Amino acid sequence: MALDFQTLVVAVSLAAAFCASARILLWRMHPDVPGLGHWGWAGILSAIALALYSQMHGLPRWWMLPLPPLLASTALMVAWDGFRRFFGRSPLPRATWVVLAAVVALPPYAASALDWTSGRILTNSASIGVLATLIARELWRPSPWSGLATRVTAYTYAATALFMVLRIAAALRGPEVDFNGPFPSLSLLWWLANSVAVALGMALMTGERLQWDLDRQASQDPLTGTLNRRAFTALATREVARSRRTGRPLSLLAMDLDHFKRINDQFGHAVGDETLCRFVAVAIGQLRGNDILCRFGGEEFVALLPETGTEAAWVVGERLRLALTAADAIAAGPPLTVSMGIAELQPTDTMEDTLKRADAALYQAKANGRNRCVMAEPSATAVAVH
Ligand code: GH3
Ligand code: MG
Ligand code: MG
Repeated sequence: MALDFQTLVVAVSLAAAFCASARILLWRMHPDVPGLGHWGWAGILSAIALALYSQMHGLPRWWMLPLPPLLASTALMVAWDGFRRFFGRSPLPRATWVVLAAVVALPPYAASALDWTSGRILTNSASIGVLATLIARELWRPSPWSGLATRVTAYTYAATALFMVLRIAAALRGPEVDFNGPFPSLSLLWWLANSVAVALGMALMTGERLQWDLDRQASQDPLTGTLNRRAFTALATREVARSRRTGRPLSLLAMDLDHFKRINDQFGHAVGDETLCRFVAVAIGQLRGNDILCRFGGEEFVALLPETGTEAAWVVGERLRLALTAADAIAAGPPLTVSMGIAELQPTDTMEDTLKRADAALYQAKANGRNRCVMAEPSATAVAVH
């Protein structure tokens, strides 16, 4: 198949310009998402690189020749920085920028000054290949909102790195570049495919991240960062099913901060809010990673403890209560204690039943003088009798 190089350059330049516009649009639509500005600038650099490349046919001066691939490498560096910011990682350090810029710029210029075309292609391809590999690696690192779109974008960059290896192999074997031969046309087609795939990947990755934000907002309490009641219900249903299936116990702690209204009244609502967060920090410190802590409302919390029977739950409850007292002794804030009702899921119980029994025990803890744990009666009927 014969592809006219000049026609291809115009078509690919247009496509690169559209892809850059799409990235800028993405940035304008979601200015609060970190990294999108870098992706936009990287797109612009990439489009400029191609526009310059389209002017390279003929006999440009030696210092002009390495410019388009240099811009393309710079675009990759900027995009890499953008990906790091997007995932909440630290921006690329200045030293890395300097080293990369030197490694990327010097060899192609040396090759160009020596009028060694294959050398220029070799060094450019190596730079782009290494940067694409680094980006693929960055995308492959785990992040809370990484999903299919992130993985596919990682593959896109990995494919670019592979293409560069082939380009290096071709440059090592082949004669000097013939602009009417397949070599530059193939590179342009790669550029086209890569630009479209990456722009699409970035848009989908942004969607992935926004979806993660929405899911988190829908399931988290904004003040303390614990799960809300909605998320708790979903997770509790899953844990009850698991407990029934495996025969392993499941317990819960119903917790209510003592005299919290007084804290608000005496110290103000803001201190009350801080105190709630202080309690959550202590509670998280005492719970295991797979325990489920939830703010049920106001100053009421529930912790669901999978694979935990009543005695073990009691130990956790007491430990948490004492840890709060200990933390309280050194904290500057108002004194804080917690009362707890502890219940284990019974064979005939629903989660609702267990919560009711834990609540009744909590009520008992309040009635008995607060700052204590009370074990629930083993069945709903027993609670009703008390
Ligand atoms: P008890 O020991 O019987 O539980 O007494 P209490 O004062 O803790 O209980 P009560 O239910 O009377 O008061 C709960 C208070 O918690 C009332 C409400 O203003 C406060 N509260 C609920 N949600 C928040 C919140 O998000 N921030 C702050 N600062 N206070 C809250
Ligand atoms: Mg309460
Ligand atoms: Mg209370």
